[in-house]
Amino acid sequence: MKRIVLIALALLLSGQAQASRIKPRKPKNIILMIGDGTGLVHLYAAYTALGGHLNIYSFAEAIGLSITSSSDDYITDSAAGATAFSTGQKTKNGMIGMGPDTIAIETISELAFRKGKSTGAVVTCELPHATPASFYSHQPSRKMYPEIVADLTKNKAASMLIGGGLPYFDTVALRKAGYSVSIGLAAMQNNNGSRQVCFIDTLKEPLPAPLRGPSLVQGCGHAIKQLSKNKKGFFLMVEGSQIDWGAHNNDSAHTIAEAIDFDQAAGEVLRWAKQDKNTLVIITADHECGGLTLHGYDAINHRPVMHFSSGHHTAEPVPVYAFGPGSETFSGVYQNTAIYHKMVKLLGL
Ligand code: MG
Ligand code: ZN
Repeated sequence: MKRIVLIALALLLSGQAQASRIKPRKPKNIILMIGDGTGLVHLYAAYTALGGHLNIYSFAEAIGLSITSSSDDYITDSAAGATAFSTGQKTKNGMIGMGPDTIAIETISELAFRKGKSTGAVVTCELPHATPASFYSHQPSRKMYPEIVADLTKNKAASMLIGGGLPYFDTVALRKAGYSVSIGLAAMQNNNGSRQVCFIDTLKEPLPAPLRGPSLVQGCGHAIKQLSKNKKGFFLMVEGSQIDWGAHNNDSAHTIAEAIDFDQAAGEVLRWAKQDKNTLVIITADHECGGLTLHGYDAINHRPVMHFSSGHHTAEPVPVYAFGPGSETFSGVYQNTAIYHKMVKLLGL
């Protein structure tokens, strides 16, 4: 009897050892979705306001926690937060696509492009803003808009940029650099250039949701349609940029509207990825903003009673939701820089 138990135990252990040796499935494409300033609670507030539904919750196959501190601060800003994802290195707050020593680091977008993939970014802020800039620019300060615009214009790695900030750009220079430029969502749908900059409007900063319209959902659809033409695959960064802005202003309605907009875009992305079967979708945040807690249910406005304890970012670790091939590697608790290393490994870059 004792021997049978021992044999059974040995078989069980060897089975477990084998299971842990199974290599994760490798995706051809990665879509990294960043909800700027979006903690656990921001999305749960959207889930509550939507009557108990969220695309992100329905699709998530693995969940992890990302520790967001920067190289020089317990609390990160969006530049250092995005640079952790784009380069795998912690940097100082305010810095874009470089380490604390101000030496530029090749970003995952540039690396993916060098290996033959297409890359792009879809955002609801102006394109030179910290998060998208961190994937295509290398500057010591996020405030250096003219330099960042020059980097975005000349960076060959970007084949699809969708967002705001038209007044910051020289469209003649963009066209000269090989971009097909369109303004507005209708014009975006008809933009068939192999490299595109699609401005969602003519403003410096795009309007808040829902006034902005479905630019994030449609931008994701358009970017996927174009980028997936590349047989070698693509890397796309999508940002719900203004969830953070709503939280900085302690504006419950804006925060929820932006979180819902982000989830709708996630639904568009996740439904496509489910059909495609070769795409890993990672949905996370650069940091929490507002120190948001929910104190009850507001039956008049059909949303939770939201209490912001801060007008700034906080140090809270943020959730990472993953779907598709390789998603299992995102379980656990890790530094934000690990997301870069997992992505590069899975894409075989
Ligand atoms: Mg941002
Ligand atoms: Zn912020």
